[in-house]
Amino acid sequence: MSEKTDIGRELDGVLQKPKRQLAMVFDLNKCLGCHTCSISCKRQWTREEGMDNMWWAVVNTMPGKGTPKNWEGMGGGWDEKGEPRPSKIPTRDEFGDAWKFNKEEVFHGGKGKTVYLKPVNTKGEDPDWGPNWDEDEGGGEYPNSHFFYLPRICNHCTHPACLEACPRGAIYKRDEDGVVLINDKQCKGFRFCMEACPYKRIYYNHVRDVTQKCIFCFPRVEKGVAPACARQCPGRLRFVGYLDDENGPIHKLVHKFKVALPLHQEYGTQPNVYYVPPLSPPAVDMHGKVDPSKPRIPTEYLEGLFGPRVKDVLAVLEAEKEKKAKGLPSELMDTLIVYKWPENIFPDFVQDPANL
Ligand code: SF4
Ligand code: SF4
Repeated sequence: MSEKTDIGRELDGVLQKPKRQLAMVFDLNKCLGCHTCSISCKRQWTREEGMDNMWWAVVNTMPGKGTPKNWEGMGGGWDEKGEPRPSKIPTRDEFGDAWKFNKEEVFHGGKGKTVYLKPVNTKGEDPDWGPNWDEDEGGGEYPNSHFFYLPRICNHCTHPACLEACPRGAIYKRDEDGVVLINDKQCKGFRFCMEACPYKRIYYNHVRDVTQKCIFCFPRVEKGVAPACARQCPGRLRFVGYLDDENGPIHKLVHKFKVALPLHQEYGTQPNVYYVPPLSPPAVDMHGKVDPSKPRIPTEYLEGLFGPRVKDVLAVLEAEKEKKAKGLPSELMDTLIVYKWPENIFPDFVQDPANL
């Protein structure tokens, strides 16, 4: 049956409409690129056998090749007619291997002054790619070089390509909160989901022959604790909540102020992770003359990521920022600033995990 999505496109396929939908908003103007989110997720969920190269929560430098390398060119998701787009399964090398370091030699071999830490991949070779290989490289030409950080997790989509691709019925979307999960007893490691997901946010566990991905920290959210990536984030940019909670920050940023946009909505999976796009300083010429009409991050580049509404959103953010600078009230800026942590950023998930 064909249905109309909230971005106005007719889609064939079964939209997964849970009773409530958990969502995240990432304010890209606040991300420090510190990777605390990636590390807290890694420590919590991906320490078992076969998970060594998994990073369910990554932070990519943009413009950049991302994780896995060049994922935006791999295909997946749905085309304009709602048909599955051709795609490929990303390889372990494209995700970036788990490296080993010569720690024994450096720390215990008595050669600390002559040898230094050096990584090798699982083939015993010098690595030539990793999840953050092109970190801080960015794009543009001097003096208008630019970059920003783009944190990425599974989007817990409403039209999840991964779910429809699984011939085992191992992927499901929870009715109570819309979290997309893989039942690993049901999964046989066919990897159709890895092929179908256009965001390439599913990993293959070669030891257990199953696929694994972000679980939105469901054992934590069930106890009122925010996901680890969001709770630990020192930039306090990862908002968490239900889309239908009109008093919550998610509803306000996505539906009321309309400043949070999905990444590559044209992939057709209806992601439930949204981004406040990054503002940038104005461009300058070689003599240092500022051109306020041109932002340093080209708007066309941001439109390629977040769609045609980017320009309007950036204009709203600038205008509200100006208001705040003049001492005028701005509910939007107050929402983005997060004066009270944790209640302003994930109001339903304020429990401290240390007290459980
Ligand atoms: S981001 Fe990919 S893995 Fe996550 S729900 Fe969407 S299609 Fe599935
Ligand atoms: S922890 Fe927060 S500030 Fe640090 S990289 Fe992750 S999202 Fe950005």
